[in-house]
Formats: sequence, structure tokens, C-alpha cells
Amino acid sequence: MSEVRIKNFKRVLVANRGEIAIRVFRALNELGITSVAVYSKEDKYAMFRTLADEAYPLNPEKGPIDAYLDIPTILKIAKDHNVDAIHPGYGFLAENPVLVEECEKNGITFIGPTVDSMNAMGDKISSKQIAIASQVPIIPGVDHAMKTVEEAMEVAKKVGYPVMLKASNGGGGRGMRIVSREEDMPKEFKEAIDESKKAFGDDQVFIEKYLKGPKHVEVQVLADNYGNVVHLFDRDCSVQRRHQKVVEYAPAFSVPEASRQKIFDSAIRLCKQVGYRNAGTCEFLVDSDGNPYFIEMNPRIQVEHTVTELVTDVDIVRSQILIAEGYPLNSPEINITSQKAIECHGYAIQTRVTSEDPSNNFMPDTGKVSVYHSGSGNGIRLDGGNVYTGAEILPYYDSLLVKVCSFDRTFKGAAVKSLRALREMRIQGIKTNISFLINVINNPTFQAGACYTTFIEETPELFS
Ligand code: ADP
Repeated sequence: MSEVRIKNFKRVLVANRGEIAIRVFRALNELGITSVAVYSKEDKYAMFRTLADEAYPLNPEKGPIDAYLDIPTILKIAKDHNVDAIHPGYGFLAENPVLVEECEKNGITFIGPTVDSMNAMGDKISSKQIAIASQVPIIPGVDHAMKTVEEAMEVAKKVGYPVMLKASNGGGGRGMRIVSREEDMPKEFKEAIDESKKAFGDDQVFIEKYLKGPKHVEVQVLADNYGNVVHLFDRDCSVQRRHQKVVEYAPAFSVPEASRQKIFDSAIRLCKQVGYRNAGTCEFLVDSDGNPYFIEMNPRIQVEHTVTELVTDVDIVRSQILIAEGYPLNSPEINITSQKAIECHGYAIQTRVTSEDPSNNFMPDTGKVSVYHSGSGNGIRLDGGNVYTGAEILPYYDSLLVKVCSFDRTFKGAAVKSLRALREMRIQGIKTNISFLINVINNPTFQAGACYTTFIEETPELFS
């Protein structure tokens, strides 16, 4: 192990908003570090900024989203206010290597991986190539961008229809299309390339076999600056709508034990291959025979890190900050002495309560929250964004209001607690997805741990 170097942070800026900004402020507060918020003009009255020790406005000339993507202004605020480090949260700049480079140039620590490993895992094609080099199984298809429709037809014929066309830089469930028939390929391929250019800035599109009814299983990893890597077990994120997660739980108890072990080992190998640092998540699809395939790595904190914290007692966000300060995993501060020292106990379920209307195709709703009363009590953890009685829900940002997590010794017990907490919640003035979430948790397929990624679209009774 190379020489341990510790740089204790005094002040940390969070380049994000809403619930993840609040989550990081809380970890900073517990570490005795001053938290610094930045906010867009539209977020002037948002709750998150009042929960930081200090808050500074971003460029009011930029739009509500672009303000949070404006690296020069964020760095200027960081330098003007003597910030030691920047935490990017998720979304916005979290996977932008330019921010990492700019931080380095300005002597500010980026709380996340190095530029090299971010680039290596940054897009789906290069992470596939890393997987091949690490002997980690991937879905049959190609490991490079396709230039011609002829090549796409040839590969699709080889792996067999249906196939999936994917934008290498796609994210958030966007940039994927299923092609079921050979005759549809020319049109779909052209559209995929055009969409990729427009939405993700390049034409890197590849193809892989479309798996029918897989499970989405992911592994949380933590790596320090000295080559030590551990996993914090897995999460099952199969309950999705349009390839986006709706309910997540830990551990992925219904996946065969041998497959889980393969997934853990693969995640560690991938991280070692790229010299990964800090927190990250390796995502896999598991087919109906239990075969796991790596799909991508997210080099950042994820929305659903909460359920892993509940079943392992590891504070992932605090660990991120301590790792960036230079503490080894086995230091008394982080206290992860070995892989074996991490136990997974009990079950945790996260439901994402959003301001969306399930009866109207999940259309986001906006406006004033006239009543907000949360569920709470034994075994419930809440991570809220900008939601309280009187809060204004804005149209510009994602519709997450609060993450409701439950914890119990049994999965059934956790499900019952989730139901109880969701039923206790009173949110008036805006539409929410609470009734839909209750239907998901109440569903016998969910309670058996048997959900697969197309469960929501194939289960109309969830909408009643
Ligand atoms: P994103 O980066 O947009 O989150 P991912 O590659 O992580 O995209 O995939 C998101 C979801 O899309 C997966 O959890 C799964 O439901 C679906 N998916 C992706 N690839 C495939 C595939 N080859 N076959 C079937 N479903 C897939």
C-alpha cells in the first residue's frame, strides 16, 4: 500500500440540489465540515439551500438546469469561498470528467473517481471493453460503435432478434430501442444514430441481444486511494418504468446464491482493472436461468444507496468524503477492516415518492403543496427533497419528492412497513404516485421477490 496521505477538509461545496444535496450536507455536518450550497435562480426558495451552512447563487442568466452545469461559475464560487472539495451528487456534473480535471487544476479535491477511471467507465462501450479485459460476462452483441446498417443487420442476425440498439452515452433509461424484426432495422438504426447525436452529442451506437424478463441487480462498491476494494452486497432494481427504477431493495435475495457471488467477484475485478476509487455501482442483468451479464458502471453515488446503508450499517456518503480525504478503508474513521467485516443483515426497500400522476401516464404535476405529512415510525427512513407544507414544486427538475425506505428482519416485514408508511403519508395540492407504489408493494409477485424489468408494463392491475 502506498503512503497514506490525509487532507482534512474544512469546507465542501455540493454541486447539486434537492434530496442528494441534503444527504451530503448531513454527512458533512456529522463530520464537522462546513457545507456550501450553490443554487439556481429558480431554486432561490428551495429548502435544500437553507440546510447548508452557506449558500451562494449560481449564474442567474443560465437556465434552471444549465446553472448546475456551469463549471466556471461553480469553480469560481469554490475558489472565492476557500472550498477544499466538491461533491457532485448524482446527475448534473457527477460523471463529467471536465469538472474532475478543473478541480485538479485548481487544487480542489473531487469527491469521486479519478479522470482515468471515469473515462474508462464513462460510456457503455468502453465499460464493455473493460469487462472483456476483466473476464466479466457481457450480453452477446458488439463491443464497438457500429458505422453501417449492414453491420447492425449482420450482428443482429448472429445474436438473434429481438435486439437492443443502445447509445453508448445514453443514460436515465434514454437512448435504447428494441428491434424485433429484421425489416425494422434500417429505420431503427438510422433513428438511433440521429437520436444519439442530438441527445448525447455523438453517434456511438452499439447492439446487444434483448434479454426477455431479466432482473436488474447491482453491486455497491467502495474503494480507497490505496487499491483496497470491497463490495457492500447487492440491490434488486427490477421494478422499473421505461427502464427507470421505481422501487429498489437490498439484498437481491431471490437471485441464486451462485449468481450473486459471481456478480460480487465481477464487480471487484472491474474496479481493480480500472484502479477505481471512491463509491461506485456495477450494474448487471440476470436472465431467467440466473446468468449475470454486466451492463454498465455508474461512477458516483446512486439514488438507491440508502437501502445498502440500511442493511450494511455503512454510511456510504460519509465514506465517500473520508476516502477523498485520504483515509484507507481499514482506518478507524471508516472502519471497514476487510470484506468479511461487512455483514448484510435484514431487508430494506426504497420507494420513490414523486409528483407524478399514475392515472395520466405519470405526467409530472407542479404547484403548491397545501398539506405535507410524512409517514414515519419504527423501521422507516425518509430522505426528502423540497417537500413540506407550502413548498412550491417546480416544473424544471426531476419529480422526486421523498424517498421512503423501510427496514426489517424479513422482506415481508419491510414490505408491511413500507405500506404502513406510504398509507400514513398525506400530500395534498399536487398529484403523487403514492397509490401506485402501494399497489406495487402489495403485489404478490413483488412480495415473492420475483419482479423482472418489464413487471410494471405487464401488470395492469398496478394502475387500479
Ligand atoms: P441507463 O444508463 O439508461 O440506466 P442501462 O444500460 O443501465 O441504461 O439499462 C437500464 C435498463 O434497461 C436495464 O435495467 C434494463 O431494464 C433495460 N435493458 C438494458 N439493456 C438491456 C438488454 N440488453 N435487454 C433487456 N433489457 C435491457
